Amino acid sequence: MIGLISATAAGTAARDRLAAAWPDRTRVYEGPVGDAVRAAFAECEQLVCFLATGAVVRLLAPLLGDKTTDPGVVCVDEGGRFAVSLVGGHGGGANELAAEVGELLGAQPVVTTATDATGLAGLDTLGLPVEGAVAAVSRALLDGEPVVLDTEVSWPLPPLPVAAEGSHVIRVTDRAVQPAEHEVLLRPPSLVVGVGASKGAPVEEVLELIQEALRDAGLSVRSVAELATVDAKSAEPGIVRAAERLGVPLVTRSAEELAAVEVPNPSDAPLAAVGTPSVAEAAALAGGGELLVPKRKSARADGHASMATCAVVRRPARGRLAVVGLGPGARDLLTPRAKAELRRASVLVGLDQYVDQIRDLLRPGTRILESGLGAEEERARTAVAEAGKGLAVALIGSGDAGVYAMASPALAEASDDIDVIGVPGVTAALAAGAILGAPLGHDHVSISLSDLHTPWEVIERRVRAAAEADLVVTFYNPRSRGRDWQLPKALAILAEHREPTTPVGVVRNASRPDESSRLTTLAALDPATVDMMTVVTVGNTATRDIAGRMVTPRGYRWQEAAS
Ligand code: SAH
Repeated sequence: MIGLISATAAGTAARDRLAAAWPDRTRVYEGPVGDAVRAAFAECEQLVCFLATGAVVRLLAPLLGDKTTDPGVVCVDEGGRFAVSLVGGHGGGANELAAEVGELLGAQPVVTTATDATGLAGLDTLGLPVEGAVAAVSRALLDGEPVVLDTEVSWPLPPLPVAAEGSHVIRVTDRAVQPAEHEVLLRPPSLVVGVGASKGAPVEEVLELIQEALRDAGLSVRSVAELATVDAKSAEPGIVRAAERLGVPLVTRSAEELAAVEVPNPSDAPLAAVGTPSVAEAAALAGGGELLVPKRKSARADGHASMATCAVVRRPARGRLAVVGLGPGARDLLTPRAKAELRRASVLVGLDQYVDQIRDLLRPGTRILESGLGAEEERARTAVAEAGKGLAVALIGSGDAGVYAMASPALAEASDDIDVIGVPGVTAALAAGAILGAPLGHDHVSISLSDLHTPWEVIERRVRAAAEADLVVTFYNPRSRGRDWQLPKALAILAEHREPTTPVGVVRNASRPDESSRLTTLAALDPATVDMMTVVTVGNTATRDIAGRMVTPRGYRWQEAAS
């Protein structure tokens, strides 16, 4: 919940806008400002104060505790010009909140936390538990001192500017080690603990068994990602509570699935009870990985039979491949999600001219694998291979990366051992459509005229089908130096079914600095004005030039009424 506090009329007006925009996330605190701030600080995760920073600092000072638990506080000035992240930039989420509030109120977000201001990923914002010398190592990163990244367990981290040698260390490990003096430990969620338990096994017995197994194997409980067991035990109180106490999800699988997993220590007891020769080992190993602790049983001091078993597996790191569309060119047509994914990736793969388009957005330490025109398959393979190593990779393409672009060759290569995140982009047909008017108001298709990968017969058949079906057609890759007869041929096919006066829009470099566009007709189009930076949109039989804009009516009743 976000507590909102204001004092003046202008502040209250801005406060009300925020409250109206986020009714479920906000709570308004009325009354004397001091009481309101104190109450909100105690009750909310975040505060937005429409007050001077000085006033807020004085009110907050006696309340401040620890940056990991204090609420995040954002101040908005009387003029609504700035949204200042005042307290809890990372831990309290105030930096992000300042950006959100700024977006909503048209205010400039002000963030002074060093790692954010310089575009570095804060060590405490990586989404992994962190231990050790966070401040010292962050300082070293900022000062450009050499920091070594020691990845015992690979994990898809955001970029960090690291060196081969240095006095400060970021160590990614699931082992139960203590951080050295200039060292930060990042805890990847790499361990899966398989558990079995007989009916009524006490939670203490299950927990103790898990903790002992981890301790004996020298593993950190903070790297436990999940408990795993068989479906039949999904409601077994000892197991359910153990997962709750560890703060991890409980994942269950069917007995058939577990029975199919090869394990070193099968036995008859679980086979008779739940239908699989192994619960703990099989559940831990079901997602693949390396068995670090084979099945062990709980010890019972009172001489009773043991009621629980467990096994620990280090699961393979899942890499992260983001396939990101950059839009047609203009920075404000690059989506915020695309921007976030570009900054999330430690490896960026793309065509050099597209990398240039977004280079300034990348975080320091991003490894850039750029290549020239062609080499598409190789780029796709590279991106998938890097993700396969457990890294966070962004594969970029102009417009939408799934439209005549990198997504399909990449996903044709990828197996299910990586996560794939697609970020849609504004494709050329849409960017051009917006410039031309409303040419895509009814059914439409895109056709690429490049016969490099597709036989011309196939292309021609599709053009003919579009012509007969009276679809609006956008031609991608319409004409290059070596391919100049395809466009006239395609237009001639369309002309067999459409009037010579059918509007045709030609848009070159949509949303780029040298954008140009022309509205002409099927009969008057000069193919020489078309090149590979261009899309050509041909109207259907209902498309009209209205006040210089290309308009395809939404319904054909409109056309009947007009004729
Ligand atoms: N993935 C891209 C398309 C790649 S195919 C997208 O979704 O837009 C390359 C073709 O797209 C070019 O030959 C051209 O026809 C078209 N194109 C891409 N960007 C363009 C732009 N900004 N303006 C006009 N046409 C563009």
